[in-house]
Amino acid sequence: MLKNNLKISYFALLLSILNFLLYHYPFFGFVFKNVDYQSLGGAILIVCLVIIMLVANFFVFFLFTYLSRFVGKFLLVLTFLINSVAVYFINTYGVIIDESMIGNIFNTNYEESSSFFSVKLVLYFIILGVLPSLYIIRVKIIKTTFKKFALTSALSLAFMLILVFANASNWLWIDKNSKTLGGLAMPWSYSVNIPLYFIHKHQENEKEILLPDATIKDNEKSIVILVIGESARSQNFSLYGYPKNTNPLLSQTKNLHTFNATSCATYTTAGVKCILEHTNSNKLYEILPNYLFRNDVEVIWRTTNWGQPPIHIKNYLDKEALKASCEGEDCAYDEVLLQGLKEQILASKKNKILVILHTSTSHGPSYSKKYPSRFEIFKPVCNSVELSKCSQEELINAYDNTIVYTDYLLSKVIEDLKQMKEYHSTMLFVSDHGESLGEKNLYMHGIPISLAPKEQYEIPFIVWLLDDYRQLKPNAHLTQNHVFHSVLNFLGIQSPIYNEEMNIFK
Ligand SMILES: [Zn+2]
Repeated sequence: MLKNNLKISYFALLLSILNFLLYHYPFFGFVFKNVDYQSLGGAILIVCLVIIMLVANFFVFFLFTYLSRFVGKFLLVLTFLINSVAVYFINTYGVIIDESMIGNIFNTNYEESSSFFSVKLVLYFIILGVLPSLYIIRVKIIKTTFKKFALTSALSLAFMLILVFANASNWLWIDKNSKTLGGLAMPWSYSVNIPLYFIHKHQENEKEILLPDATIKDNEKSIVILVIGESARSQNFSLYGYPKNTNPLLSQTKNLHTFNATSCATYTTAGVKCILEHTNSNKLYEILPNYLFRNDVEVIWRTTNWGQPPIHIKNYLDKEALKASCEGEDCAYDEVLLQGLKEQILASKKNKILVILHTSTSHGPSYSKKYPSRFEIFKPVCNSVELSKCSQEELINAYDNTIVYTDYLLSKVIEDLKQMKEYHSTMLFVSDHGESLGEKNLYMHGIPISLAPKEQYEIPFIVWLLDDYRQLKPNAHLTQNHVFHSVLNFLGIQSPIYNEEMNIFK
């Protein structure tokens, strides 16, 4: 079949078969794992999935190539190139290319994406992307008549419909697994989810819904420092019972409390949004920093991360701005967030202060590059970006060192607050989501919350209080939305949106 002159129908069929063979190992890996293929029903389902996939892709490839041979070839080359990279990520990190993963990709900056770069990725791109593309470019396609085109299209459509209806008994199974199947089928995963992502983003971000005005109730000087963790899972904190001592400093700190908590989502943009909003919703409500800034609270946002909803405050400092006034080796790590923070707080003339530190310390895959070398407590560590190449132990060692570094950062925040005796203060540490470290063969995060393993959503929620000015309620379980109401309560801010049930302070 690999000759140089092909009719459109043969060309589309050949590419549909190639697309099936080259990029669907993960798709059918999932199917074989979740279907009893030794039973008759299971075997039929698998055969039908193969046929539907072949016919559906044939139909689309045929359609585009008939309409314009140039456009058809161009789209197919693009598709095969993207497929090769997508399959690399699926095979290497166990991700699926669904809408939230598309969101992660578009919210990843160059520095982060370059840490994914590896020889294996180049090999995938050349062998699975460039080589088939060269063939697509070289092959000569022979035009077909409209009559043949109409007949072929109608037949393939009818055939697909028959197969779909013949499989009615399997609809439930397909529906239940549609997220995963859709996220592994090439090129549908990204060509459907990219437009979906932009449509939803546009809907959500049109304009934030303003909350009713708030009033400051008293003149007490108080500070809340909210530290937003990145990919920190509670399981690896010794404060939560982890056998390795990842919290050497915090475990010695007085007035420190931990709560069991879960995140709303398993990816940064949704997790951070949930920490900052008064309720978990798909809408974009005015977020905590914007709301308090508008209502006369001093708000400081410092970040080495990204992915937060739009912020409209005066004191916003990103990594570059913070680095510019920082000297020394540690400025390359999250400690840069604390650079000059005390001075900035003391310079404020306001009684109520909210500081938000958006960290990036436990972000994979290069865990071992997220802390200064003196924090390499657990050895040996994984230095590869291909997580499945490292032993589980090396990987967890590197991750645990990021928790030790987080322990140090939080202790420094507490030390700073202790020195500002004229303020009542509290520090909250809440992570945006958890992280998989090879359990169930999954890495990183981003699996839809309904399917995600607990490692990806069980997060630390740590509270430190300066003094006995405030006490904590005995909460059994917290969500990220507790942050909003608790900060309002601690700072003495009255608002119609305030919900006492979501407040952690007595
Ligand atoms: Zn994150």
